[in-house]
Amino acid sequence: PEDAVARLRARLAGQPAARRVTVLHETDLAVAPGEVLGLVGESGCGKSTLGRVAAGLHAPDTGRRLWDGADVAAMPPAQERATALGIQMIFQDPHASLNPRRRVGDAIGEAAGVHGLLEGASQADFAAELLRQVGLDPAMADRFPHQFSGGQRARIGIARALAVQPRFLVCDESVAALDVSVQAQVLNLFMDLRERKGLTYLFISHDLSVVHHLADRVAVMYLGRLVEVAPTAELFREPAHPYTRALLDSVPRLDAGNTVFQPLKGEIASPLAPPSGCAFHPRCPHAMAVCREQQPALQPVAAGRFAACHLVPACGTVPSTDSQSAP
Ligand code: SF4
Ligand code: MG
Repeated sequence: PEDAVARLRARLAGQPAARRVTVLHETDLAVAPGEVLGLVGESGCGKSTLGRVAAGLHAPDTGRRLWDGADVAAMPPAQERATALGIQMIFQDPHASLNPRRRVGDAIGEAAGVHGLLEGASQADFAAELLRQVGLDPAMADRFPHQFSGGQRARIGIARALAVQPRFLVCDESVAALDVSVQAQVLNLFMDLRERKGLTYLFISHDLSVVHHLADRVAVMYLGRLVEVAPTAELFREPAHPYTRALLDSVPRLDAGNTVFQPLKGEIASPLAPPSGCAFHPRCPHAMAVCREQQPALQPVAAGRFAACHLVPACGTVPSTDSQSAP
């Protein structure tokens, strides 16, 4: 039997290695205190994985996570625990993470109680105050999750995250399941909390209009890599990367007047078989021979702006009047 176990172990050990998929390639992203950084891309591009890594829910194989300039993995345990509380993730469906048999007030108050953050208040008073802060009637604390609407449950999910006094919220499609009018209300709540509590956000969304209203800067991902990072207004006004442009053209936008919009051609490739060179080349209208061979690096293309494309010259190296820079 020992032989059999050893053989089985060897087989199991071999399998994951053979099927290993790189979901996220070298990705370097910093969020400044108080900033809202939007992260966009089609589903399957790796943005949720990046969010989970940022939130500490998923350990990357390589690379580091820095918080206030310090490597989280190298922190003493107490500091690491404090950091973990300081970063909270808010998911798309708070319903799934709320225990259906627990009164929401208990769920909220307990999170703070466990970590000794009640600051002298009773668990009930603490929960009532948080419900008030997210725009819900504190009298609702005694209700169960199924007694709330989708928008109210989103607020409860936010209240529960706030219970541990985070400084940084990672929101993954946090309003995607809501009706548009309710979405707007919850987005306003996020902005309001940002002002009141000085929160920092990584806001992940496939919906460009959501990010447009919320983010100071936007990072665009394609197949596990950042392809463009820019201040929001500049990115929407003048996208540098062909993929960003295609994403913007694929949705009708009143401000840009593109009433005739172009759906993105083709599908995002599988991370199991990523295209050679620039992973976007099979869908890119500007693809050149070099694009099939060389992976373009993310590099500065203007003040505060980064892009990974052979067509976009790095700032300072190629004159911006170069004919190739304006496809
Ligand atoms: Fe298109 Fe080439 Fe730029 Fe990739 S590197 S986005 S294929 S032009
Ligand atoms: Mg996702």
